[in-house]
Amino acid sequence: MADEKEEKSLGQQLEERLLYKPEPVAKKNHGLLDEAKDFGEEYKQFLNNKTEREIVDYTVPIVQKLGYKEFVLGTKYQPGDKVYFVNRNKNLITMTFGKRPVVDGVRISVAHADSPRLDFKPNPLFESTDMAYFKTHYYGGIKKYQWTTIPLSIHGVVTLKDGKNVKVTIGEDDADPALCITDLLIHLAYDQVQKPAAKVIDGEQLNILIGSWPIDDEKVSAKVKLNIMNILFEKYGITENDFQSAELCACPAFHPKDLGLDRSMIGAYGQDDKVCCFAQFKAEIETVDPEFTSMMVFADKEETGSDGPTGMRSVFWKDFLEDVASAWNYPIRHVLRKSLCLSCDVNAAVDPGWPEVFESRNCSFLGRGPVVSKYTGSRGKYSTNDASAETMGYLRSILDEAEIPWQVGELGKIDVGGGGTIASEISIHNLDTIDMGVPVLSMHAPMEVTSKVDDYLLYKAMKAFFACKVPKDF
Ligand code: MN
Ligand code: MN
Repeated sequence: MADEKEEKSLGQQLEERLLYKPEPVAKKNHGLLDEAKDFGEEYKQFLNNKTEREIVDYTVPIVQKLGYKEFVLGTKYQPGDKVYFVNRNKNLITMTFGKRPVVDGVRISVAHADSPRLDFKPNPLFESTDMAYFKTHYYGGIKKYQWTTIPLSIHGVVTLKDGKNVKVTIGEDDADPALCITDLLIHLAYDQVQKPAAKVIDGEQLNILIGSWPIDDEKVSAKVKLNIMNILFEKYGITENDFQSAELCACPAFHPKDLGLDRSMIGAYGQDDKVCCFAQFKAEIETVDPEFTSMMVFADKEETGSDGPTGMRSVFWKDFLEDVASAWNYPIRHVLRKSLCLSCDVNAAVDPGWPEVFESRNCSFLGRGPVVSKYTGSRGKYSTNDASAETMGYLRSILDEAEIPWQVGELGKIDVGGGGTIASEISIHNLDTIDMGVPVLSMHAPMEVTSKVDDYLLYKAMKAFFACKVPKDF
């Protein structure tokens, strides 16, 4: 028999009513990890797509199958209609039309599908010491030493002289060969290990070992290189000149895995920011007859500053929205002013190995749900969107209404570093924007760690955001 419930003291009651007490999700809902299991499996499938192009290639057939139609300019879409738009094979936008007119505002979410990696240089292939290599130029912020002595795979496209695109993937299939960057043996590394971490491996040492067997012809000088080029020619029909019109990169070759003996986490490459891509994608495609029109965007080039026609500093997404609104002659600025955007990106999870860089009252923790970041930036909030109190209040009420546990999060202690998101590229268009994502351990490392329940709750949060019926009156 259960004991009679002890009455709470006045202090306890006050504490409950007045104080904010962040706590692990498991405390209130222990069954949630089980509930998140299927979501985790689907998410791991999604993570096998490692570049922005692969994410678009993977998701477009899914939305087509679900009945999304390619956007047609000038169409007055009806509530419940679903459309998609692809920009340069690297951005996907999906939209579900709401009961209210587009000019009442759109619920937008944006996440980036690019992740740190090693891009090939335009003239990458060389031979040295009877071995062949690809030269790379790293993409995004990485600790270069983490990218040596791990299996790498090659991804990308080569555009041939006749304009045809050849897709390349090597090293993902278990039957494929692996590739890697070598590191100096410890026995001869007395000098190397004294260097600061940024210099342990030099950018120009990020050369991928791809072969060591020569072509059988004494009259040729670079025999190993030629043999490799011949293998590539036979498989893909490409010659060395074709690298000049290619986008190839190396990514960690390992597949997404459950992490931890309790399988409570996911360890995988590229979770920044494919965790948010997947959450918002799944939420948007499951959105049916929303009150407000929903819009989901996969961004590119976030890791290098959001430049170029596929980055969020480009107007591709705004042009799309303007094209949508033009069917009713709604000026885009009115649509943007009424809209709300979630800039979905990850934040740093507190890592007990480095307590000195985290301020535990304001940083995010694994297993406490999605993290909402009012601002990012560095050195006194420079280069930050800084969501308004009203915007925070609006999102807070959506999450609380849907009973989704969530947490606030700053990126580490003041002045220990910093970083930005695409929120400032979006809000520059007079569009209220707020950062939301999940906490990540080992961000930008070849294997990043997230919590399954956080990932799942982010998806639930996105669903609640798209389903919200309350007008934004600020
Ligand atoms: Mn990110
Ligand atoms: Mn990042």
